[in-house]
Amino acid sequence: MSVVVMKFGGTSVEDPAAIGRTAEIVAGRVALGKRPVVVVSAMARVTDQLLRAAKCAASGDRTGALAISSRLRARHRDTACVLVKNQAEGARLQTLIDEKFDSLDEMLRGLAVLQELTPRISDLIVSYGERISSRIVAAAFCERTVNAVHVDAREIIITDSQFQKAAPLEAILEKRANEKLQPLINYGQVPVMGGFISSNEAGITTTLGRGGSDYTGALVGGALTAESIEIWTDVDGIMTTDPRVCPDALRVKVISFEEAAELAYFGAKVLHPATILPAVKKNIPVHVLNSRNPSNEGTRIISLAPHCKSPFKSIAVKKRLSIIDVVASRMLMSHGYMKEIFTVFDKHHCAVDMVSTSEVSVSLTVDSNDNLPAIAADLSKLADVKYEGRKALVCMVGEDIRGQSGIAAQVFNAVRHINVRMISQGASEINMSFMIEEDDAEEALRSLHAAFFKEPDPAIFDVEARKPLP
Ligand code: ADP
Ligand code: ASP
Ligand code: MG
Repeated sequence: MSVVVMKFGGTSVEDPAAIGRTAEIVAGRVALGKRPVVVVSAMARVTDQLLRAAKCAASGDRTGALAISSRLRARHRDTACVLVKNQAEGARLQTLIDEKFDSLDEMLRGLAVLQELTPRISDLIVSYGERISSRIVAAAFCERTVNAVHVDAREIIITDSQFQKAAPLEAILEKRANEKLQPLINYGQVPVMGGFISSNEAGITTTLGRGGSDYTGALVGGALTAESIEIWTDVDGIMTTDPRVCPDALRVKVISFEEAAELAYFGAKVLHPATILPAVKKNIPVHVLNSRNPSNEGTRIISLAPHCKSPFKSIAVKKRLSIIDVVASRMLMSHGYMKEIFTVFDKHHCAVDMVSTSEVSVSLTVDSNDNLPAIAADLSKLADVKYEGRKALVCMVGEDIRGQSGIAAQVFNAVRHINVRMISQGASEINMSFMIEEDDAEEALRSLHAAFFKEPDPAIFDVEARKPLP
């Protein structure tokens, strides 16, 4: 059966017009004989606002937190009102939205008294974004002839208890998806569920981390062995770099799983880094598509991408990084020393992006996080330590850099006016990355893009889109 998992991001459900377009796209797939499962994000910016409300409440600002919640309640009610014209259905949906916001407000009041925001409470509060958006989208679909049925994602996506970045328990999840979603699909219904939200085995709400709705889409696609996974967003696909920084970025027509994973990990926000894994395991193609321009063919992510004349497919940048220098003149090369350094990062659950060593020092880059002083304190028991924030990692990705000589020289020539701190070519040989000051990131992207996408390969990049209109 041709199951297709369709994930719609925040901008694709941001207002009644966007939800209307989304309904049409899904109806189009049904008309083609496909069996969609729909995964939606919270409406655009809602997750940020819920987090702000939680922080306000936890700092004792009860009025500020409730004011944010009240604006969100009005936005969701207004959206539902425009979309659902059937009186009985409309009234039912408004009651449901009110119930959800009433319980959110109760939580915010409690938080303002306790003034302690734990990761567990934070997950519960942000979960309202997807819990409510998915209800509105399901109701709007039903009015538009899509036979939708709402499913609470927390009954399917079961995870461990690492709040704010929970890891899915795939065997349980696969069983749940087959028990709860497959019968609905067989029955000709279109399940609609929230992305990002999940629960642990005890039923406590968890989340998959920011941007995690893509991951939900891929997990569901993997569990149901879908024919394809579609990630619907607000750009035409994976582009040669972030189009907000380089407006002349081109759509990449086709890219490999490996390249896409590398790009996502190194900051291309268009995909959540873990999205590709479930798809790779079952060799399910992933398509990135634009819900504002649905006729565009988007980007196809497949296991083996065709040869490309240009060395790179895309350039990503990851910001808010810190660099940690560990300097120890005598012990560095002694046996077990590196292990001790990494044990410290492990203890603080801190992932290291890049490492470079010299005779007397090790430099490491990590996401800037609140644990850095504690990490530095632990490392200082081993050696002299200093750390510096506001760094960015630029990552250039392409399978066709393998075996080509002279590329590093071209890269560093393009950014010769920028101070480069650390350089690495990943073991996979498909990425070349370097660390710079965060303030130089945009300039570096523009210079590299101008140097490497002057004559793009038309088989891989949408060169047509660059041509001026007649
Ligand atoms: P959604 O809400 O649909 O998940 P996101 O905001 O998470 O959307 O991701 C889409 C955004 O990712 C785009 O608007 C774009 O600015 C940004 N982006 C960063 N790098 C890239 C890239 N290489 N290709 C396409 N988009 C990118
Ligand atoms: N709503 C969540 C976020 O903003 C998840 C997502 O949109 O993918 O991070
Ligand atoms: Mg996203």
